[in-house]
Amino acid sequence: MSEAPLIQSKANVTKLGAVLLGKHVACDAYEESRPIRVVTHAHADHMVGLGKSLKNCEVSVMTPATRDLIDALKGPRWLARGTVKTLDYGEPLTYEDETLTLHYADHILGTAQALVEDKEQTRILYTSDFRFSRTPFVEADILVMEATYGDPVRVRPFSMMVEGMLVSMVEQGLKQGPVYVFGYHGKLQKMMRILYEAKIKTPFIVPEQIFRVSKVCERHGMKLGKQLLPFDGEEAQSMLTQNEPSVIFYHSYSRKKVEGEALQIHASGWEFRKPCRRVGTNKYVVALSDHSDFNELLEYVERCNPRLVITDKHRSEAANIFAKEIEKRLKIPAKAAPI
Ligand SMILES: [Zn+2]
Repeated sequence: MSEAPLIQSKANVTKLGAVLLGKHVACDAYEESRPIRVVTHAHADHMVGLGKSLKNCEVSVMTPATRDLIDALKGPRWLARGTVKTLDYGEPLTYEDETLTLHYADHILGTAQALVEDKEQTRILYTSDFRFSRTPFVEADILVMEATYGDPVRVRPFSMMVEGMLVSMVEQGLKQGPVYVFGYHGKLQKMMRILYEAKIKTPFIVPEQIFRVSKVCERHGMKLGKQLLPFDGEEAQSMLTQNEPSVIFYHSYSRKKVEGEALQIHASGWEFRKPCRRVGTNKYVVALSDHSDFNELLEYVERCNPRLVITDKHRSEAANIFAKEIEKRLKIPAKAAPI
């Protein structure tokens, strides 16, 4: 048998979005034939079918921080329905003739790349979502990649400027009163950290779920600011009624209303022309992303130099384009999955 079909059989992405590594592991969606379920991080599109995995898999594996985030999002009893094993970065879990390890990825707190090594010493890696600059690359023979910005037009050459721009916008807005910031879990806490490091001292006001998630981030070492106030608490409510300067953090899906003419800042990775764009009266989008852009994704593949790349088409429309670009530019066999 030639090598290609053999290595191709060692990794895949299913129609439901399960990233299959080796013979026993399924990452980020339920797959009934796999005894080990890995949750690479606590974003919803990576916790697909986790209830079923808890019920049917032998074990669900995640980092301790991811477990704590899921507890904060879904309640502490939710994961208790199944067997959960937490693995620190680099700590091995051996199952029959394969070994699983999790490796750091810079995305949201707790995010991991998943590596399976089989008995032929084939290293099969799934990157999950990651930001290139602070993610260590892991050597692999087969590389399953996220492809969110896998199209060559998805580049953000200005990304170094975005954090500074966010800080100065918030500083300006606070001169008029409260400032509202919108983003996803993880990105919200990253913005808190950026503002805190920039010495913005006004209280941060957050709804209950974001408060719980932020407390988990703090427990795991993130510095988010001295004054994190729950939105429904007395202190926050009194500040809001008196229009006092504060930064209010809402989830991107929040339907909460923004009062009056206050400055609103929405964080989105889907901005490629400039670091900041005005979208309405006092309403702006800043190009803050927790993913690698096209050039960075490609650089990861180049450094890793695997024998085969599989791009995750379940989570990204750009997976086909990205696979073609990898073959064209790096001459490494690549395919998008599921087909
Ligand atoms: Zn994610």
